[in-house]
Amino acid sequence: MHANWNYPTNILVGPGRVNEIGAVCAAQNIKAPLVVTDPGIALLPMSEQLLVACQSAGLKSAIFSNIKANPTGQNVSDGVAAFLDGRHDAVIALGGGSALDAGKAIALIAQQSCSLWDLEDIGDNDQNADPQKIAPVIAVPTTAGTGSEVGRAGLIVNESEQRKVIIFHPKMMPVSVILDPELTVGLPAHLTAATGMDALSHSLEAWCSPGFHPMAEGIALEGIRLVHDNIERAVADGQDLEARMNMLVASMMGATAFQRGLGAMHALAHPLGAVYDLHHGLLNAVLMPYVLGANVSVIDARIARLAGYIGLTPSFDAFLDWVLALRQKIGIPHTLAELMTRDATFDRIGEMAMADPSAGGNPILFSAKEYQSLLSNAFEGTL
Ligand SMILES: [Zn+2]
Repeated sequence: MHANWNYPTNILVGPGRVNEIGAVCAAQNIKAPLVVTDPGIALLPMSEQLLVACQSAGLKSAIFSNIKANPTGQNVSDGVAAFLDGRHDAVIALGGGSALDAGKAIALIAQQSCSLWDLEDIGDNDQNADPQKIAPVIAVPTTAGTGSEVGRAGLIVNESEQRKVIIFHPKMMPVSVILDPELTVGLPAHLTAATGMDALSHSLEAWCSPGFHPMAEGIALEGIRLVHDNIERAVADGQDLEARMNMLVASMMGATAFQRGLGAMHALAHPLGAVYDLHHGLLNAVLMPYVLGANVSVIDARIARLAGYIGLTPSFDAFLDWVLALRQKIGIPHTLAELMTRDATFDRIGEMAMADPSAGGNPILFSAKEYQSLLSNAFEGTL
């Protein structure tokens, strides 16, 4: 289970490899990394272990952990102040999606003259940044789901506009990633399930998206097979290092594959998560069978091919049955009604989903009304 990969970036794979942080920094000529993590992880032994490994390699390092679960512009500004005060030359982002996104944003903006919001993922906004002044990031994920360690974007909340902004720059891609399954063994079963289903949703939506990107399709297929073979084991026994390793790789593959596009699961999960403050991966997991059903007229043959590849009867129904059985085994609710109550805003989610950037990747371009009825089905459990 030990390997060094160079696609889509440098990736050190294997249990215990976080201890090689000194050599990873040396290879990138990094001398003073700022460790960015969340307040929960900052209290865990893994943060101390990382700092000690940095210090024993002669690196001048410090930790910044003042970030929210949905990191804000203020969190990034505070991180930039810590970066500049400590005269740091790189960021080590340790944690789940929040820490990875915040760390990448801090490294991006710390030495720029433009503001963070000038780098929102619209048109060629990335030209507003001076690429020479972007600090390198080493990403160390501690959950297997978002795949942000191989992403070129980060989600940051703009407090004054009360919305999540996608910050994008090609150089936000971390220069090195360490996939060490020992860092994920403490993740509770329900989060292992929800984040793992997020990884599955990334590969699945990428596989169904109509874009021309055969390389991403190949990655999506194998990413789904890894989830199929490992998620139940990882949920049932959090200490199963082989299953944990494979889920970390599947998560990274999902984020690599979704360059091809996402779809209706994410188009709905984004507004639902923002409005009702629900877990992103859990929402995708609940929505998955309903979205598959709504797309069936277009994806029938494609899902049959996928089902055959992962060892099921090659049919749409066999794949759908597997998703339904899996959700039940790993404790995912069948309906949105089990997570939330219907209020006035609920009737506006369809519109918000249609306007979400992920909607463009769905195999069928649903109207707001179609999104709303898909949502009602997921709420009531009508497949
Ligand atoms: Zn996702």
